[in-house]
Amino acid sequence: MASSVPRPSLDHRQMDRAVGAVLGGATGDALGVPYEYGSRPLETPARMLGGGLGNYAPGQWSDDTEMATCILRVAATGADLRTAESLDRIAELFLEWAATDPADIGIHTRDLLGEALVERARRPDEPTGALLTRLSTERHARTGRTAGNGSLMRTAPVALAHLGDPDAIDGAARADSALTHADPIAGEACVLWCMAIDHAIRAGTLDVRVGLDRVSPAWNGWLDAAERQEPAHFADHNGWVVAALQGAWSAVVRADSLPDGLQRAVAGGGDTDTVAAIAGALLGARFGGSTVPAAERRIVHGWPGYRARDLVALAALAARGGRPDPDGWPTVGAMSYSGNGGGGRPVPHPDDPGVLLAAADALHPGVADAVVSLCRLGADEVPLAGVRPEDHVEVWLVDKEDANNDLTRAVWDAAAVVRDLRTEGRTVLLHCVHAQTRTPVVAAAYGALITGTDPGEALQRVQRVLPSAAHPRPSVVAALNAAVPQSIPPRPTGAQ
Ligand SMILES: [Mg+2]
Repeated sequence: MASSVPRPSLDHRQMDRAVGAVLGGATGDALGVPYEYGSRPLETPARMLGGGLGNYAPGQWSDDTEMATCILRVAATGADLRTAESLDRIAELFLEWAATDPADIGIHTRDLLGEALVERARRPDEPTGALLTRLSTERHARTGRTAGNGSLMRTAPVALAHLGDPDAIDGAARADSALTHADPIAGEACVLWCMAIDHAIRAGTLDVRVGLDRVSPAWNGWLDAAERQEPAHFADHNGWVVAALQGAWSAVVRADSLPDGLQRAVAGGGDTDTVAAIAGALLGARFGGSTVPAAERRIVHGWPGYRARDLVALAALAARGGRPDPDGWPTVGAMSYSGNGGGGRPVPHPDDPGVLLAAADALHPGVADAVVSLCRLGADEVPLAGVRPEDHVEVWLVDKEDANNDLTRAVWDAAAVVRDLRTEGRTVLLHCVHAQTRTPVVAAAYGALITGTDPGEALQRVQRVLPSAAHPRPSVVAALNAAVPQSIPPRPTGAQ
């Protein structure tokens, strides 16, 4: 599908936040799954235990993200989501998904998509987008009850497809919502949330009212109430789109980080996975996908066979109008800096010989049974041959000035995941492009974590064995001197 929508060019931090709108939503979904409607008692912190109404695997996302990927896949082609062609494709993917007999699916959506599968067999000439919109509209006229949270929970990719274009976001959000939820209030919720996501990605700040002049005046009071009340206040009726948005916004507006906001959203109770998926989209757009803990990125997964890296790639393409960046990422098979040197010899970490420090040209099968990559890799390079997908962890850490949303969190979180992999008995290859800054800095943080020594001293020990690390970028080294973020998580259950 040809790209037809002009896109603003995004800097590194904006791109991380665009990715976060998808990755944050998926993470919130998987974190909320175990507790959906009291499936198990709420606990602090919430953990990606799986189970829930769909008996999911640990880290598996549910219908919220499954449906969001349908929109994301079309957005990643660079298509204008308002066109009949795009809506047909999204609708076809919804039906493809419904035909897999999803483990958990909202009653309204299940009935509607089930009806559409039957109707399509009877009237094969009706375009699928028009078919769903017609059935949804008829159902709304018949029942007056189509304002569930099922279109809001999947709406974030709409914002990625039309960044910086409020009219397009408005039109696409309503059109997508109407495929299943014809109530105008559901469409308005999608407009409001996508406008807030767009704003957060581009500006790096929260403003949930940026789209308020496009929706009914009642939203102003609803948002005020969300700011006054804790998420739990909305739990009794958060299957309704308005209360779901209120619960999500109540969690987001109180959060000091993405992990904090997701915990607040789940702790609110009720439709925990959906409220956390909605909240996670805006939290990711505000704080960046890089702030989703690596321990959770390792295990998050779901239909249609995606893991975190697939969401990252599709979100980046959607935000770039369907095109890879000038280096070919994320669609290129191998990045030009990796695999072609052949001379890279990994150096054992001075505090733990089970961690090997290297540049990208050391990425060869058999070098280790786990990999932590601190630079972008191509589509064919992950996971490294012989390494389980959950044991090849990619970290979004940019070796440039002012290019990271939360550098301190990224460095210490990367060190924590090296520690987790070692605890699980893996040998770990820790690498970036040239092993000049990112590798030694994360290696120093890891050394400090396991020895309890000063990170600056740990860096000196690394530098003594790693000649390429003589002059790491000072602004990245500074992350070692900052306090370790409190939410560097313990290992989640289910990481094995
Ligand atoms: Mg769900």
